[in-house]
Amino acid sequence: MADKKKKDSKESKFAYKKKSAWEIFSNEQIKKSYEFCNDYKKFLDAAKTEREAVDYINQKAKNAGKKIIINKDKSAAIIVPGKKNISQGVRIVISHIDSPRLDLKQIPLYEEGSCNVALFETHYYGGIKKFQWVVIPLSLHGVVVKKDGKKISFSIGEKETDPIFSVPDLLPHLSHKVQNKKKIDEAIAGESLDILVGSQPAKGDFSEKIKTAILDKLNKDFGISEEDFISAELEAVPSFKARDLGFDRSLIAAYGQDDRVCAYTSFKAIMDLKNPEYTSIALFVDKEEIGSEGNTTAQVSTFLRSIIRHLDKNIDVDSVMLNSKVISADVNAAVTPNYLEVFELKNASTLGNGVVMSKFTGHGGKYSANDASAEYVSEIRTILNKEKIPWQTAELGKVDNGGGGTVAKYFSRLGMEVIDLGPAVMSMHSPYEVTSKVDVYASYLAYKAFLKG
Ligand code: MN
Ligand code: MN
Repeated sequence: MADKKKKDSKESKFAYKKKSAWEIFSNEQIKKSYEFCNDYKKFLDAAKTEREAVDYINQKAKNAGKKIIINKDKSAAIIVPGKKNISQGVRIVISHIDSPRLDLKQIPLYEEGSCNVALFETHYYGGIKKFQWVVIPLSLHGVVVKKDGKKISFSIGEKETDPIFSVPDLLPHLSHKVQNKKKIDEAIAGESLDILVGSQPAKGDFSEKIKTAILDKLNKDFGISEEDFISAELEAVPSFKARDLGFDRSLIAAYGQDDRVCAYTSFKAIMDLKNPEYTSIALFVDKEEIGSEGNTTAQVSTFLRSIIRHLDKNIDVDSVMLNSKVISADVNAAVTPNYLEVFELKNASTLGNGVVMSKFTGHGGKYSANDASAEYVSEIRTILNKEKIPWQTAELGKVDNGGGGTVAKYFSRLGMEVIDLGPAVMSMHSPYEVTSKVDVYASYLAYKAFLKG
């Protein structure tokens, strides 16, 4: 009955209707989306931290003879010169390569004698729902700079033969008072996100036998002593591999897709770019998840200024920036089953409807937003329509329901035209985020079309 009624009612030919990427894409393009995502999954598994992402991007760019500039091993820029003089502006796609995780504290290791285990203290990084990070397999990534100044890189827990780490949780039988009656964001405290790292005691007359054994093992394997943790950056991330999700394999589940989905697709776009009209830059930045603070982030424009000056040392950098156009390549929230009430569905992004254009970000009253101009929105919309790239428009949730920011505002402050464009992600900031393969492919096509000019 309902179906028949729908058929009888006609829609105005002037009405806007969000379209499905599955309908817009040809069978050939759908096949290409699946193929594209096979390599995307490999990238996700190889680059779980900002440093690993920079390594991956640097190696591939160099092998292909691309111009790449690295900033402190955590931020990078690939540059493709354009036909027009740089004074006419550049085209930039910027994404971030950090993701929420558990960072080790500077003095992390302790023995909990009453439990016969040793643990690492952590301080979570970025916006997490703490209860999602207990009892899952974790791997440890990062660097330790030893007493002698030598830097060693860590990655333990990714190979099948590696050990993993995990945050323990209380059994349901005893959770009633200390967890179940509390609010969900208080049930697991930040200080209780400590990671189990061992239990075998050292033989001999030591006050803390398990801690002693772990320190011995770390010294034997890596030549580090406890003080070396103070000059280390060790990040615990989910050790899950990126996997196809669903009977039809149409979705991808993986850690860190916010925002490595945009990092990878913009990386592929600039790698495929030849002879663009304008000089094109793919920029990969760090620390977005903690407010873009620090010297490897988007908020500090020094890196970008130095790139522009590097291209032409006599150029007026401010006027280049005033003439430049930017895509802030970041994800939006996919409408989530069972929680429709937090979205205003006409202006929300959904899996499978293509790359998401967010005219503005911020929260309640557009506070702290980059609000792209109608003219710039039109320009981007025209490119996407001309190239038949599936796209949708969205803001993050209902007006008074929260919100979020991206790096867009930091670039618009420099006088550039900026808009947010990236795929929708379900379960964002969780250990296992979900994207749609056609949206990933649409994002790649969108960045490429934009950079081509
Ligand atoms: Mn993001
Ligand atoms: Mn985020």
